[in-house]
Amino acid sequence: MNVLVINCGSSSLKYQLISSETEKVLAKGLCERIGIDGSAITHQPEGGEKVTTQVPMPDHTAAVKYVIEKLTDPEVGVVKSLDEIDAVGHRIVHGGEKFNTSVVINDEVIKAIEECNDLAPLHNPANLIGINACKKLMPNVPMVAVFDTAFHQTMPKKAFLYGLPYEYYEKYKVRRYGFHGTSHDFVSARAAEILGKKREDLKIIVCHLGNGASVTAVDHGRSIDTSMGLTPLEGLIMGTRSGDIDPAIISFIADKENISADDMINICNKKSGVLGLSGGISSDFRDLASAAESNDQKAIDALDTYAYRVAKYIGSYAMAMKGVDVIAFTAGIGENNCQMRAAICDYVTWLGTSIDPEKNAIRGEEVILSKPDDKVAIMVVPTNEELAIARETVRLVK
Ligand code: AMP
Repeated sequence: MNVLVINCGSSSLKYQLISSETEKVLAKGLCERIGIDGSAITHQPEGGEKVTTQVPMPDHTAAVKYVIEKLTDPEVGVVKSLDEIDAVGHRIVHGGEKFNTSVVINDEVIKAIEECNDLAPLHNPANLIGINACKKLMPNVPMVAVFDTAFHQTMPKKAFLYGLPYEYYEKYKVRRYGFHGTSHDFVSARAAEILGKKREDLKIIVCHLGNGASVTAVDHGRSIDTSMGLTPLEGLIMGTRSGDIDPAIISFIADKENISADDMINICNKKSGVLGLSGGISSDFRDLASAAESNDQKAIDALDTYAYRVAKYIGSYAMAMKGVDVIAFTAGIGENNCQMRAAICDYVTWLGTSIDPEKNAIRGEEVILSKPDDKVAIMVVPTNEELAIARETVRLVK
């Protein structure tokens, strides 16, 4: 089966066509500036060059039309016709409490996703636009929704409730949901596989450290706690997001700076994290590492604060699971940033484990960093959310 995986943002659309037999990416690409002047599609067939074409894309339907055009193009295409696209898998950010697993998309599902718009006003409406565009252009191709929140629906009440009046949970469903679920699921399953063990027998902490970042406690195969909350703003310090802060800071700064609470939330989402902490140097850890090497104190502090927060979450999840067998690092920073991994792992040696500096120098590959007889296995497991979405799509469509 060939599965088209779609990740739709408000003005962008990322796609991959994946063969389920070989699990290879046949082609991938990105439509940018949809609905804005200067829109373009960048397409790359397997083993071929990336080609960017400027094309007018007034809406997402136009973008999907160009994606199909590229995939079936006689030169850069990888299939002869639309008939060779057997299913579409959509990444959906918020499934609320309605979805604890992936589902085949029908009108009822679309309505239920719409009902979650309130919880992710920036993401879900864009995801729905992607679904509707595909429905229009490929009416006979089955589609599956894979939710970022679904894997975390196994969290117990004690982990997902906030210490707020209970009526807000009842009236507005204000609770912790967690995100990056597809990645935490994929990485924890793969970590167990690499170790030759069953995930159901292990206590695994997954650290998904990318531009957005979260830590999850996967206890015997089930997510029992995760660091993101109602929105992806809670938890770790991220590229541009603050993570956990005292909520009183919002009105305190808003009063001082004469800005609204919404403005302040925007600052917490877009201007905080290591970008804000470093005094605006960058949200990219490579830039921060170079600044830290030149003894920039704010960059050094940003990196120290980041590592400390990750370590604190690892510690609390070891307590939540009453133990830990595996700590797995993934995503851009988790897979590639050896200094950050070393800084975080420096806090966990008391658990009876440590990382081999030579193995830790490896980037972007599956590797076990700890020694075979260490009490806790520390490993790097590259994530692959698109492949996970394609697998879910095949599972449901078949
Ligand atoms: P992601 O959101 O998963 O793409 O991760 C983005 C983050 O990964 C950025 O902060 C990058 O600095 C970091 N990253 C990606 N590649 C590398 C690398 N080779 N070395 C260090 N950090 C990297």
